[in-house]
This record gives sequence, structure tokens and C-alpha cells, in this order.
Amino acid sequence: MTGHIFGRSTRLMPPAAAKGEGCYIIDKSGKRYLDGSGGAAVSCLGHSDADVAAAIRAQLDDIAFAHTSFFTCDAAEELADLLVEHAPEGIDRVYLVSGGSEAVEAAIKLARQYFVETGEPGRHRVIARRQSYHGNTLGALAAGGNAWRRAQFAPLLVETSHISPCYEYRGRAEGETPEAFGRRVAEELAAEIERLGPETVMAFVAEPVVGATLGAVPAVEGYFKRIREICDRYGILLILDEVMCGMGRTGSFFACEQDEIAPDIITIAKGLGAGYQPIGAMLCSGRIYEAIAAGSGFFQHGHTYMGHPLAAAAGRAVVKALDERGLVARVREQGRKLDAALHSAFAQHPHVGDIRGRGLFRGVEIVRDRATKEPFEPERGIAARVKKAAFESGLICYPMGGTIDGRRGDHVLLAPPFIISDEQ
Ligand code: PLP
Repeated sequence: MTGHIFGRSTRLMPPAAAKGEGCYIIDKSGKRYLDGSGGAAVSCLGHSDADVAAAIRAQLDDIAFAHTSFFTCDAAEELADLLVEHAPEGIDRVYLVSGGSEAVEAAIKLARQYFVETGEPGRHRVIARRQSYHGNTLGALAAGGNAWRRAQFAPLLVETSHISPCYEYRGRAEGETPEAFGRRVAEELAAEIERLGPETVMAFVAEPVVGATLGAVPAVEGYFKRIREICDRYGILLILDEVMCGMGRTGSFFACEQDEIAPDIITIAKGLGAGYQPIGAMLCSGRIYEAIAAGSGFFQHGHTYMGHPLAAAAGRAVVKALDERGLVARVREQGRKLDAALHSAFAQHPHVGDIRGRGLFRGVEIVRDRATKEPFEPERGIAARVKKAAFESGLICYPMGGTIDGRRGDHVLLAPPFIISDEQ
């Protein structure tokens, strides 16, 4: 190897992945790694799915690329139909892109254009939550509330308000019921809209189950229903970012089904291509689509590779695999077992503060002190050390140092392929 590639770290050269086999990745030296996190919640079908590979090959034999300003293609149309069949009520249009950040950018721009076209051009502000991640491009990074990822790029980011996440382990006060806690943090949205001026706010963005930044944290029951009510009361759009938690990962096709709400816009990516192709999607309600159709008739956005036939063929094969093999039900079943196994292994561990999540999307929070929930100091780099130790012993997990009140907290995210066996 010449070493000319420029990746994440300028210091580390990771081993070269040579082969994928079900839940395993095998490097060039022949070492096997159990993919306990599906990369970052990507590889929902595992690494050598014959149906998806065949679908991509067949598409390649037909046509690999036709620019969307001239053509559509069957794979993209059929994928959109399948996604709408699974989508929350009212969501019936699909915009295909190449990944999660692009999907979030498209969602934010669509929200803005919707208000411009419906005669409310004053609406331009986004409200999101602290300790969230919505992508690394500038619009998505501005929406995200991960202080560490934002810090050095702050001068480039459009101003965004961030309210508290619904993070029960650290946010719920002693003696407060989960319901009262959910109500209190949801009401922060109403207060922030009032503070900014409702006529200036266009959207609230949130992950139904917070992934990378908090480690599989779902909201308490009732929180998202209240968020939906507040958005409706002030006429602002609810954008749910399911890039990580969507596509069956939490035990329902879309995570928000379990919160019993429907957003106005929803984003997905990772599990959609399942690692076989880079693809993401932004889905929106008919109401938004119709407003633009009746106005300019043109969503002023687009990327060269949107709706790419090979990516769409992979996405279509993934959705079919989830449906035909009953994999979302399997996520619920294996998720219960994983949760039980994590509790039996770690519930009493002196440095495990919390074990949480839904389906095959589970997080373990590491603390210095269980009683006080005090995190380790950032310089201890606990999350990175867990990752390294696990990797050396052949397990891929996804640890992250989040940010807790300006300090770093640590968690390990587990998001294995849906085909994971009991033994694995
Ligand atoms: N949104 C969420 C919730 C994510 O977890 C991620 C990636 O981790 C993104 C957006 C960005 O997706 P991508 O890395 O595909 O651009």
C-alpha cells in the first residue's frame, strides 16, 4: 500500500477489509471480526447478502446511470412505492439521495421552500436538540447539537436553537415521573418558539431514538405526541431524522411508529442501502409536495447521483429482504435477547450507568461512578479504549464520547445485523 489515501485519522492506518461473510468482516491477514455495530448501524442484512448483490448486478447489466433531469428508472420508482407502503400516515413522496447528511440537507431546504411558496417567507429558523447528530455537511451540522463536532466549524454554521434532549437517564429529576419529565422537556420547544417568534420558525428536527451522540436513547412515552402537538399549534414542520434508527433497526420499519406519531418529513439512509450502495432518502407529506407542485413546481435542490439506479436497486432489494424474510419481527426478538444479555452481563458492573435502546439498537453508558452518574474525564478516552480493546479481540462496536453538560460522557452502541444468531 502506498498510503496516499486520506481517511478519518492521519495517525492510524486501519487493517484492510478483504471479505464480508454474514455478521463477520475478515481482514487481509485473515482475522475475523464480529460486526456488533453494523459499522454504524448500516449493515442490517450482514455482509454477503446474495439477493442484494444479484439485484445490483442485474441493474448494472441493464443500466448503471441515467441523469434524473432526463430519466427516472424502475428501480427508483419501485423503491419509492415500497417506502411509501411502510411510511407513517400522510407521508407519500420520496426524494432519493446518496446518504444521511444529504437527506437532512434536503429536508431542511424543502421545509424552507415550502414556507416561501406558501406565503410565509419569514419562517427560516430550525430548532433541534442538544446531544444530537444530523450529519457532517454544513446545514446538517448546524442542526446537530454535538458540541465536539460543531466546535471548530461554528463560524460557518447557520444559527440554530438547541433544546434539551429527552434523555431520561440524566435529565429526569429525582421524584419526577417519566411522563412529567417528557412534558417538561417537550415544553422547552414551545418556550423556544415563543422566544424566537413563531412566525420565524420553520422546523423542529429530532432523532426518535438518538444514535451516535447519546447511544440508543429513545424518548419517554408521550414525549413525541406532545412535540407533534406543539409543532401543529405553531404551524411548524416536524422533521424526524431516522438515518440511524429507521429501516427496522428499532423493531418497527420507522422508529416513530412506536411513538405513535407521523412527522411531516422523515429522513433515512444507513440501513436503506445496508452498506451495499450509498443511498439515503427524504420522505415528505403529500401536503408539502402539493404546495410546491401548485407553486413553482420545482424543488430547488439536487445532486448528480440522486436516484442512482444501482443504489435504488440495492435499496429495493433491501426493503424486499426485510419484508420477505420477516426481519423486522426478528429484530424485536433478537433485540429482547440482546437486551437481556447486556443486563445479565453488565447491570451490576461498577462502571455501567445505564443500558437502553429498542430492537437491535442498544446502548451502554459508561460512568466513573454509578451512584453519582459522574462520567470519566475526557482525557481518559474511555470510549476509544473500549473500541480498541474490542477490535483487537475481534468485536466491532461503536463507542462514542458524547457531551454531557459540556463534558464528555461515554457510551457503547451495539447495532448488529438483523441476521445475528443467539450465539453470536
Ligand atoms: N443523521 C443521523 C441520525 C446519523 O446518525 C447520521 C450518521 O451517523 C447522519 C444523519 C449522517 O449520515 P451520513 O453519514 O450518511 O451522511
